[in-house]
Amino acid sequence: MNKVHPALFLGHGSPMLAIEPSRYGTAWQEMGRKLPRPRAILAVSAHWYIRGTAVTAQSQPRTIHDFYGFPPALYAVQYPAPGDPHLAARVSALLAPTPVRPDEEWGLDHGTWSVLRHMYPQADIPVVQLSIDARLSGPQHYTLAQRLAPLRDEGVLVLGSGNVVHNLRQLQFDAAATPPAWAQTFNTAVRTAVQGGRHAELAAYESLDAGADLSVPTPEHYLPLLYVLALQRPGEIASMPLDGIELGAISMLCVQLGGVQSTAQKQ
Ligand code: ZN
Repeated sequence: MNKVHPALFLGHGSPMLAIEPSRYGTAWQEMGRKLPRPRAILAVSAHWYIRGTAVTAQSQPRTIHDFYGFPPALYAVQYPAPGDPHLAARVSALLAPTPVRPDEEWGLDHGTWSVLRHMYPQADIPVVQLSIDARLSGPQHYTLAQRLAPLRDEGVLVLGSGNVVHNLRQLQFDAAATPPAWAQTFNTAVRTAVQGGRHAELAAYESLDAGADLSVPTPEHYLPLLYVLALQRPGEIASMPLDGIELGAISMLCVQLGGVQSTAQKQ
């Protein structure tokens, strides 16, 4: 038995995936069933991208519907998972000397609940969110995230939620269209670098591939990946159980550390 808890980066894609059937939702449900059950979840969502580092400190975080123009059914979704003030305090302690603000106003945004309602539909595992400090570079985020490594020994699932490729200005609505080369090459470059454990290059994503400018026009959806990669143990395999480019400009690539159940997934 491997007591180091898995860590997971998920491409979350459209908020509609929270309520519409998709192969992604099905895969997330399967992950929830197969991964060891965590004691708590620390989520790093693309949608809490602010000046400073903060953790949700409520005992009952609210469900935030941080999007516009979607059907009422999506606004009706609630994900009433409890918070975990002790975990919030633990995260603050681990991230020292970086100041961490205990937050009472945010809650669970759709980057977190749109995937967790598939993985853990009972909403019975405590969830804490950690913000992404918009002032830090990729390497600075990676260094910060490394301090969270002990959480994997404490039964906590660290969940990064974003998209490796995310460009809403370049969406293609022709389902038959081939994704553009810049999206495919960048996604492939990330996959290859993850397989090779080349974390410094992944942290400096701007120069990873010529497709970086269009694939990561703003960093908030990419950075959650670094919060997972930074927790990789020596010799540990990073598997990528899910991938796909949606609408030509959104990568659904998933990166999983640990929790691989058979040798079939070894690369
Ligand atoms: Zn998003």
